[in-house]
Amino acid sequence: MTRKTWTLSLLLFFAFSVNAQLKSPEEFLGYPVGTRYTPHWKIVNYFNHAATQSAAMMKLDQYGETNEGRPLMMAFISSSENISKLESIRLNNLRLAGLSRDKMAAIEDKAPAIVWLSYNVHGNEPASSEASLLALYALLNPAETRTKEWLKNTVVIIDPCLNPDGRDRYVNWYNSAVGKTYNPIPLAREHREPWPQGRTNHYNFDLNRDWAWQTQQESRYRIKKYMEWMPQVHVDYHEQGVNEPYYFAPAAEPLHEVITPWQRDFQQTIGKNNAGYFDEKGWLYFTKIRFDLFYPSYGDTYPMYNGSIGMTYEQGGISGGLGVINEDGDTLTLVDRAQHHFVTSMSTVEAASKNAGKLISEFKKYFSNALSNGIGEYKSYVIKYDAANAQRFDKLRELMDKNGIQYSSGNGTARGFNYFNGKEEAFNIGEGDMLISSFQPRSAMVKVLFEPRSKLSDSVTYDITAWSLPYVYGLKAFASRDKIAAGGALNSIKAVNKETTYGYVMPWNGVRSAKTAGQLLQQGVLLRYAETPFELNGNKFERGSIIILQTSNSAKGKNLWPMVRSIADANNIQLYPVNSGMVDKGFDFGSDMVHALRAPSVYMITGDAISTTAAGGIWSFFEQELGYPLTQVSTNDIQRIDWSKVDVLIMPDGNYRFLNDKDLTENFKAWIRKGGRVIALESAVAQLSKAELGPKPKKSDEPDKKEKENSPGYDALKKFEERERDAMTDMTAGSIYKVELDNTHPLAFGYPDYYYTLKQDDQLYEFLTDGGWNVGVIKKDNQVAGFVGSNLKQKLKDGVLFAVQGIGNGAMIALSDDVLFRNFWENGKLLFCNAIFMTGIR
Ligand SMILES: [Zn+2]
Repeated sequence: MTRKTWTLSLLLFFAFSVNAQLKSPEEFLGYPVGTRYTPHWKIVNYFNHAATQSAAMMKLDQYGETNEGRPLMMAFISSSENISKLESIRLNNLRLAGLSRDKMAAIEDKAPAIVWLSYNVHGNEPASSEASLLALYALLNPAETRTKEWLKNTVVIIDPCLNPDGRDRYVNWYNSAVGKTYNPIPLAREHREPWPQGRTNHYNFDLNRDWAWQTQQESRYRIKKYMEWMPQVHVDYHEQGVNEPYYFAPAAEPLHEVITPWQRDFQQTIGKNNAGYFDEKGWLYFTKIRFDLFYPSYGDTYPMYNGSIGMTYEQGGISGGLGVINEDGDTLTLVDRAQHHFVTSMSTVEAASKNAGKLISEFKKYFSNALSNGIGEYKSYVIKYDAANAQRFDKLRELMDKNGIQYSSGNGTARGFNYFNGKEEAFNIGEGDMLISSFQPRSAMVKVLFEPRSKLSDSVTYDITAWSLPYVYGLKAFASRDKIAAGGALNSIKAVNKETTYGYVMPWNGVRSAKTAGQLLQQGVLLRYAETPFELNGNKFERGSIIILQTSNSAKGKNLWPMVRSIADANNIQLYPVNSGMVDKGFDFGSDMVHALRAPSVYMITGDAISTTAAGGIWSFFEQELGYPLTQVSTNDIQRIDWSKVDVLIMPDGNYRFLNDKDLTENFKAWIRKGGRVIALESAVAQLSKAELGPKPKKSDEPDKKEKENSPGYDALKKFEERERDAMTDMTAGSIYKVELDNTHPLAFGYPDYYYTLKQDDQLYEFLTDGGWNVGVIKKDNQVAGFVGSNLKQKLKDGVLFAVQGIGNGAMIALSDDVLFRNFWENGKLLFCNAIFMTGIR
């Protein structure tokens, strides 16, 4: 026996003797998978157990934690040979994608394929985390010789649970609601999950809408790892309604045009492999329906736009508990649901392993094409910088960094499409402007995020159809067909705040201004804001600028200015020192065009019948971005509100039953008349309108509509099979509209005279007259991007979206579109801050 074989047999002996102690999930948990719900901590324990017992074949990392402190885990499973050189496999993979900075050439031949399986992103679609236990064991179990073959040329990454807070919210509730044995009757309590349900994360965000935007920490931690690994195949595991069977790829139209024939083909290959196993067992499934590939922030599209084969798998099972009777009269059990997900897990790894060589060579081809040709008609995007938009510019830059998109400075002149007037024109590239080239590894993502209009192959889609970033961020930008030469690295600008004795002026142009103001107000600093523009010491200040003076704040003594500066520094806010209240142009600080600002006490209605994601978005915005206190009151407790303690009441999208109660509504109105300010969002606007508050919904102004209804003619002859498409003529799945703003009103301070809104419904309101201000209006056909049905196009004109109605000493502020949409609609956030701090104050 040579020394080498000795070592090998020793290693084998060691591996097997250790592996011998690897327990199956059933042995470890004490029950067969699917017969009970496994809380997240037990899933973590099993993964830890497996990592200890199968160290040679598995590496387990904690890559982050949730808001509620639960660990986020990823397991790497492969042959012991691959695991021993995991880091060099990772670096080699990045070289294949042109993403590694080191000069070493990429080894194509023996590079293993990387398959990433993401389980349980929606907490109350919990079968997949149970399946992850089965998948892990099947990959590690020495008796499973088939999987050992696959792992020779495949690295499998398992994230057992992307949303542990949501999963445990569901599982803990379910375990508390189920009896000794489960009740399969769909109406039984255990199938009727209470608000806010487990789908979302702690802040009630849908993490499967957040991949690109990464507003939530789970997404940020995960994408950081995703960028480091760039798998060839990614599967996002879900569950759908209990009456659906199983869905797997190939996906439904529309597919974004950046998706390559190879990506489509390989979805087909994997789909066929899955179908083989399902047919063998007689399990039903469907493909090519409902789950399209368009909106870039899903667990299938995001990997697709990063060169992977991204897929969604959906098992029927939401609200299914441990067992439920479905429409076919069958009892669908968690055991079955977990089995189905387990089978597609194994089938996907198998398909990838069988085609590992091709997966790697196509992966390399994809990225070398992106690098040398650039994807799409536009080759360069230029984002203009100026001091007034610096805060949103920085946020866009952050977004580029989070998604690994490269950018630089630039200079000179170029021609391109001006996003804001829709014309091709010449433009200068100034200092500070951001140049994003399409000649880069993440070229597809660049195109998807920046193209002015996305091409839709089918009008029936699952989600919004427009997200072009210059509109979302409200940043002037050009898309050029020319390859513009890159400049050096883009500098970032850091505020340097000088001392003052008299006071400071702070421009009002973004969330960071509002955050600074909010923190100063909480410190008891009295602030003022200017209603009109003014000039002082050679600086021009726009409406809404915050004035901080020694006067009225003398109680703070010597601490005032160091405290003000330290808050401003921490928020990277430039303060302008001033030494007099007499301005060079405009109104002096003592005039009645300058108003005091006080810390408002802000309440929000939440709970039953309120949209979880709408309320969650506001909650997250207050805590994560604005840093300002928010008191959330449940819909069941509205009658207990002490109105004298409330300055601002936020009513998110939802159903407000208290408005049917005469006494409660009277109290509420009396509070407004005394000076209360209501911020109503989306559907709340229409409900307050019924209670005689705020603007009235616009009626359709088609003159011949009645006539048509009486005598419809051939229009009535519709094809049955076209029914879904016909319904689309009345709707928008979310498209971008240009809104004209009255930026002399405090609600629109800090904005130019326009704003781009995401229109997700057909609501528009009549112009307000007496005591009302029409701050944001759609005048005629102002649609910019995305799909809008033809009937709706007729309706969406000449109405108001953002309005302020004075009522006694108070006000009703109507924001009928979601200005914070999924908290990535960056340019709407200041509107919301204006509503909180500056609008409707007497
Ligand atoms: Zn889902």
